[in-house]
Amino acid sequence: MTEQTITDTAVGIVGAGPAGLMLSHLLALAGIDSVAIDIRTRQEIEQSHRAGILERDSVDMLVNSGVSRVLRDGHEHKGIDLRFAGESHRIDFQGLVGASTWLYPQTDVFVDLADARQRDGGDVRFGVTGTEVLDLTEPRPRIRFTDADGRRHELRCRYIVGADGSRSHCRFVVPESHRRWYFREYPFAWFGILAEAPPSAPELVYARSDRGFALISQRTETLQRMYFQCDVTENIDDWSDDRIWHELQARVAGADGFSLREGPIIEKSVLPFRSFVHEPMRYGNMLLAGDAAHTVPPTGAKGLNLALADVRILAELLGRAIGENDPRALEQYSSRALSRVWKAQQFSYWMTTMLHRLPEATDFDDRRQIGELEALVGSDAGSRYLAEAYTGWPDSERSEGTPRRGSPDRPLVLGSR
Ligand SMILES: Cc1cc2nc3c(=O)[nH]c(=O)nc-3n(C[C@H](O)[C@H](O)[C@H](O)COP(=O)(O)OP(=O)(O)OC[C@H]3O[C@@H](n4cnc5c(N)ncnc54)[C@H](O)[C@@H]3O)c2cc1C
Repeated sequence: MTEQTITDTAVGIVGAGPAGLMLSHLLALAGIDSVAIDIRTRQEIEQSHRAGILERDSVDMLVNSGVSRVLRDGHEHKGIDLRFAGESHRIDFQGLVGASTWLYPQTDVFVDLADARQRDGGDVRFGVTGTEVLDLTEPRPRIRFTDADGRRHELRCRYIVGADGSRSHCRFVVPESHRRWYFREYPFAWFGILAEAPPSAPELVYARSDRGFALISQRTETLQRMYFQCDVTENIDDWSDDRIWHELQARVAGADGFSLREGPIIEKSVLPFRSFVHEPMRYGNMLLAGDAAHTVPPTGAKGLNLALADVRILAELLGRAIGENDPRALEQYSSRALSRVWKAQQFSYWMTTMLHRLPEATDFDDRRQIGELEALVGSDAGSRYLAEAYTGWPDSERSEGTPRRGSPDRPLVLGSR
């Protein structure tokens, strides 16, 4: 039998994406040791462009834990534009709920957290293979893997956290009799591009048109991220730069003359849409976090934020379970995390169905959709709901009579809130 190195750790974390890395960072601050493993190399993760919008609580979490580059390099967005029938309507987050979101790419969140773990001597192993999780209902669950140099390892843990993304290995290990899966597939996808061009708007523009949805978002002064609704079977090779710009321009066109600033397209991809929830988010001594437990369509910009919200709760409860020897604390995890997950599922579903055109949409559906958008932008209550959901809800535990946003007993990091 091949020799393997055995390591004892309090928390073994499968997946070093934003959920896994943030958890190991928060646990280290609480004096709890962990080992995180990832099947991808650090370079591979740094090069995979994904989410870009952080809720204000996600920014607070980074900054309060000593990871503050977002305040220097991120861009505060105090609202978004909803664009339909050829006109833009601003949803003013600051005016409605006194909060902002921050444009800060997921790759930067990853780099900041990976650097922080390295600086603090954290144990993160990239480029592993053959991950196995074992003995999940035993007091010492185990993780086995082969490291990047081909050596076999076994981690003996008090708890395992499955933070291994939407194709989670950990999730599949939970017996069918102990979990329920909720699933919805959408009959469209997003065609995403990264373009070398100046920004076309200072904040995100969510555009509904009879040709389908388009999202105009930004990355830097010279790099822009844009998406348009497409068929799930769309082939990127059928789309030249000219054809893409023509389609995007047509979806945002209007009497006000708004148009996009064009440039070379350096990345194209088709992103399928899914809503998925795995319940409960715990099996024995394994806890699931982030995309491993739930995915949302990207319309509400919730995926990354939900992943960070899960591990904020998990770090607190693991702190009590391990640091204060109170394992029952973890019984709250699934219900606390799921309360936010289902609110985010509803918000993402609502934004998606309000702004996208279904393949079988009739004239009635088109007019009703415009009616819904007009009702929303014309209503203070409707706009406030969107602003509140988009900028993020407080943790459900904190929401019951405990400090709320902007209250004097909840210290705020950002002056803008
Ligand atoms: C193309 C794309 C675009 C997106 N755009 C947006 C957006 O605009 N807005 C938004 O909010 N969200 C978006 N998302 C979703 C967002 O990126 C995710 O919600 C977020 O990455 C979740 O973080 P996570 O840590 O849970 O999972 P991940 O970031 O997926 O990290 C999981 C990690 O686990 C590792 N792993 C997987 N299997 C194993 C294994 N067996 N052993 C060890 N490690 C393993 C993976 O390599 C990965 O690094 C997008 C996702 C994709 C794919």
